[in-house]
Amino acid sequence: MSTTALTRRRPQAARTRVTRRAKNWREASARVLVGGVNSPVRTFRKVGQPPICVRQAAGPIVRDVEGRRFVDLIMGWGALILGHRHPAVVRAAASQLSRGVVFGLTSEPEITLATLITEAFPSIEQVRFTASGTEACMTAIRLARAATGRTKVLTFEGCYHGHSDGMLVKRRASGLATLGMAGSAGVPESIAQETVVAPYNDIAALEAAIAEHGEALACAILEPIAANMGVVVPEGAYLRRVRELASRHGILLIFDEVVTGFRVAFGGAQARFGVSADLTVLGKIIGGGLPIGAVGGPRRLMRRLAPDGDVYHAGTFAGHPLAMAAGAATIRHLQQRPPYATLDALGGRLAEAITSAARRAKISVQVNRAGSMLTAFFSDQPVTGWSSVEASSTNRFAQWSARLREAGVLVPPSAFEAMFLSTAHTSSFIKRVADATEQLRAPNEMPTRPRRA
Ligand SMILES: *Cc1c(COP(=O)(O)O)cnc(C)c1O
Repeated sequence: MSTTALTRRRPQAARTRVTRRAKNWREASARVLVGGVNSPVRTFRKVGQPPICVRQAAGPIVRDVEGRRFVDLIMGWGALILGHRHPAVVRAAASQLSRGVVFGLTSEPEITLATLITEAFPSIEQVRFTASGTEACMTAIRLARAATGRTKVLTFEGCYHGHSDGMLVKRRASGLATLGMAGSAGVPESIAQETVVAPYNDIAALEAAIAEHGEALACAILEPIAANMGVVVPEGAYLRRVRELASRHGILLIFDEVVTGFRVAFGGAQARFGVSADLTVLGKIIGGGLPIGAVGGPRRLMRRLAPDGDVYHAGTFAGHPLAMAAGAATIRHLQQRPPYATLDALGGRLAEAITSAARRAKISVQVNRAGSMLTAFFSDQPVTGWSSVEASSTNRFAQWSARLREAGVLVPPSAFEAMFLSTAHTSSFIKRVADATEQLRAPNEMPTRPRRA
């Protein structure tokens, strides 16, 4: 059952070679890398499947060391909006590579990319680049604390802002918006107590958090469209209310647009919803697939950063020339040939295919989608925040992703992540997704006679 069409056609010798190679890389990776990976979800443990080791990728396709090909819906966790190895991005990176990789000095591509970002986001006048989204979130929060003279940070359950201590904090079981609890060993409770955690999409909880901690809150940080508990779209006037309440209480509003920036619109979720942030965190797409993060905002706030101000941030790889060049090529391409309507249409077709196949199979699914990012939650309830995310069936998801993998389609190996489309995807794989979804038919729903194709 786990053999793909490709491996089934292989002669015995080739099959043995591939099996040996597969076994070898798994053993070697488990020996020298913790869990065989450098980021936990890559183990595929959450879906009970063996991990994948990639050899190469192009456009919408990844090819692994065992010789299998997959239509990739992970797309570097959303970083690759133009697909793998887009010629314009490869050309820009190669051109920079030929001139030098890192200087520890300012280089032109930093100015180019910062300019493109300020043109896309009206709320951003100045930018500071980092080497990851995690660092950019840390820096934005430090800046907000310095600017307000307050210490506490309001976060929203299910959102992800990287793996710094203060952001690895969970909501306590009791209370709407309470001081957080350490969400990882090694995070001191004293640090977790500087983070307040409220449920997402819940204005009453936000009001409660502000009533209780308002005077101490330096900032509220959230994903304006959540993508790290799977896709959860903000309801109606939610972002506008968050904006109003933050302004009224002197709380700086940080939009973590690491995923949504240049994904849901050229100016990110801020352009899409017409709500602007005080500080914006960017990452992923703006590096064209290379490591990157950025904090942006108005000059009056940004100038608090060193060297103009007293908030420290520095980095050997901050503003890395290769990432700047690849990112600028990506953003220019998005500016010149906006793909958003096409991506939205493709996302809509994929969502519709999953929904109708699930209906035929009599399986409950909620497809949450914002343009080209979407999640299929196996649930009969609308999914609007962490509690409804958690109530969806992870078993069903694991079965679904296994079926898709057999059909040569790779989705994120966790029920609580987003699938990402790129401009390299066409609709040709959608039927495979629909067929695999339809095969999920519950055992007691199985037709007694073989169905006609
Ligand atoms: C990926 C991500 C981050 C962290 O970025 P890294 O580059 O992985 O450190 C932060 N916030 C959001 C919303 C993300 O999706």
